Amino acid sequence: MSVKRNFIKQYGKDISLKKNGFLSLLNLVIILVIILISSFACTQQAITSGFDPSNLKQLGDSVHYGSYFIYKIGEDIYKISDPGDPEAILGGLIGTDIYLICSESKALMIDLGNNYIDGFEKDLIKPRENAKEEFLDVVNNLIGKRSLEVAVTHMHPDHSGMTKAFIDTRVSLWIGEGEDMERLRTMHNIEPSVYKIFRQGEKKFDLGGGRIVETFLLRGHSNGGTVFLLKPDMMLFTGDAISPGPRRKRELRSAEAFNNFTVDINNLVNNLKNNLAPYDRYGLQVYTGHSGEMMFHATKTDIADTLPEDEGYGEWRFVQDMANVANAIKDGTWLDATRGFHHFEIPAGINNQRQIQIVFYNGALILPEDVAYGASGMKAPEVPISK
Ligand SMILES: [Zn+2]
Repeated sequence: MSVKRNFIKQYGKDISLKKNGFLSLLNLVIILVIILISSFACTQQAITSGFDPSNLKQLGDSVHYGSYFIYKIGEDIYKISDPGDPEAILGGLIGTDIYLICSESKALMIDLGNNYIDGFEKDLIKPRENAKEEFLDVVNNLIGKRSLEVAVTHMHPDHSGMTKAFIDTRVSLWIGEGEDMERLRTMHNIEPSVYKIFRQGEKKFDLGGGRIVETFLLRGHSNGGTVFLLKPDMMLFTGDAISPGPRRKRELRSAEAFNNFTVDINNLVNNLKNNLAPYDRYGLQVYTGHSGEMMFHATKTDIADTLPEDEGYGEWRFVQDMANVANAIKDGTWLDATRGFHHFEIPAGINNQRQIQIVFYNGALILPEDVAYGASGMKAPEVPISK
């Protein structure tokens, strides 16, 4: 959109110059009048076709603009939903969510969605015309005069996709320590040094007006995943770290990923327990990276089908139960049917690994069977476990 506007500005200047220089020539005057009229019409169109956030008044209000759906999810807090492309795969299929937290003079954007500037071949994401301009139009109109920083939860292509929109700008790009930064080069052909690296737990984003966003390390899905807590508003932004979407299950493919996840989810739960009163904890809203997951990933064995619909976010029990599942795998209690844990085989995973899903109320983990047994020092049985 800004390209269109700049073009119109330039065009307008040309007209006024011509108007002063050649006013006496009748044919030029007629042409000028025509151009002026059309230019006025274009200017009007440029103003009204830009993203207008004024319709986002009440919580839950949403606006569809270009490739995005924008929701008001808090006071000056927005979810910018990229609904993805039904022809694509992975992050491209289910779409990703980007979050924008604004305060008095600053704004923090969490995640950057899919790459529609260059596309991303492996997810079958195709480039879109004016992708950068459209995205910046949404962001700039939401933040107004506030300064912006961007932090991504992890360096996967569907969460760092629009990085290029902010290169060579004053916007700082942040990522937590431990992520594979070379992926930025291989995925989007971007120099990894455009990101500043922070240490989770130490780094806080102080947006002013009491809005401080804390950071927590949560590995498993990636090696340096970050979740962000906005305490005054009781919102936790988790990317894919706890689960991709509100279906509340996390796939962990190796013993290392499982161990890291177990340590970090317990740290997070303990921190929330120690620093928040129960009343506040139970008001927690957990915003994941793929709220569109609900629509696409239904499987026959998916226990989450029986859970009540939520408001597009998870809650405290979800975080706590994910830790409960991890702990039950570690101490072997998941095999004790009287403890309330359920396990069942699900279709084989990568490299034909036998996988199981272990569920406890709002939490579910999917692991290779040998990892689940190995975590508590047991050997997986030769015959598959009962269904
Ligand atoms: Zn993702």
